[in-house]
Amino acid sequence: MQQPRQDPFGWIDEEARRRERAGLVRVLRPREADVGGDGAPLDLAGNDYLGLTRHPEVISAAGAAAARWGAGATGSRLVTGTTALHTALECELARFCGFEAALVFSSGYAANLAAVTALAAHRDGLVVSDAANHASLVDGCRLSRAETAVVPHADPGAVRKTLAAHPGRRSLVVTDSVFSVDGDAAPLTALARVCREAGAALLVDDAHGLGVLGDGGRGAPHAAGLAGAADTVATVTLSKSLGSQGGAVLGPARVVEHLVNTARTFIFDTGLAPAAAGAALAALRLLEREPGRAARAREIAAALHEALTTAGLAVARPDAAVVSVRAPSPGAALRWAADCREAGLLVGCFRPPSVPDGVSRLRLTARADLTDRQVAAAVRTVLRTAPADVWATARSSVVHCAE
Ligand code: PMP
Repeated sequence: MQQPRQDPFGWIDEEARRRERAGLVRVLRPREADVGGDGAPLDLAGNDYLGLTRHPEVISAAGAAAARWGAGATGSRLVTGTTALHTALECELARFCGFEAALVFSSGYAANLAAVTALAAHRDGLVVSDAANHASLVDGCRLSRAETAVVPHADPGAVRKTLAAHPGRRSLVVTDSVFSVDGDAAPLTALARVCREAGAALLVDDAHGLGVLGDGGRGAPHAAGLAGAADTVATVTLSKSLGSQGGAVLGPARVVEHLVNTARTFIFDTGLAPAAAGAALAALRLLEREPGRAARAREIAAALHEALTTAGLAVARPDAAVVSVRAPSPGAALRWAADCREAGLLVGCFRPPSVPDGVSRLRLTARADLTDRQVAAAVRTVLRTAPADVWATARSSVVHCAE
């Protein structure tokens, strides 16, 4: 075969070398199958906030769904990909969270792309987006081709100003309910007020709120009194608190009907696998039966925060189950997470470009099924493995906050 005159992928090696120099290389590491069993590492890296992904009822619902409906959905939701499980999940999810209707997608990412594009795609559309929003909302803004104004993080005043500068536009304000990087909550009540003043719609990505915030885990919009509001839409993932896979958009029935007819990630995507729908439905029913799981996840997050800050680390106050610990550099964060892993504790590691402010962090997940003893062991490991320069960073960020 004829050789190309120039290597068309040479630039990839160049980029790889740049990543290597900056300590930003990412590698896939298959995890052990039985995390949580005897001698297995303690998992504070996943998003299984309520400890439901390995719950026997959830696993058996997944198996039963696959046995009854097959391993895959076989087609898009509008063709053959809707089963009775999808419909039941949509009804129960909407009722539980307090919304009129729900629509299930193959992922939370797809749900966010759908919600933003279907609600903002208009030549007169304006999207006002928080600077710390999740990548899936950011991509939704890009795909919508609407004018997007990125506003400073958690700043309803900036949202008000932006909306006021564009009177008469079809406007959508988009925000995470709980931000994945620092675990802080959006000022939903103030944002809703600002939206109503300007006649804008509000879209809340409740990926980290469902199952953790609100009465019995009904989510952040429910806690803020926004569930079921005519101008509010929420998205959720089924892959965190509900221990499964998939996503959903919740909102007024006419919004859901609009999505069924226009959202490309709904129409052109194969439906969620029945096993995932069955597992999410079982997890939702469990959460309804055992509402204490939500409060327990919050309690554990508060305990982690208290212990780590008391010891002198810079830890953002968690508003839900995400506990974020600052690290001095991407390399230090990576080493710290590796040392934790070596010591039997799995923690997440956030580095650029996943962090909007360029600050690397360890990310610890509070899980409702952790015992107090496990929480204490996790704290000991994080402190014991903390690199020396982490303490310097922690001290300097305290000074910075005091200014
Ligand atoms: N939104 C937020 C805030 C998330 O953290 C995530 C998942 N990391 C998603 C959306 C996407 O959800 P999924 O993983 O179900 O695609």
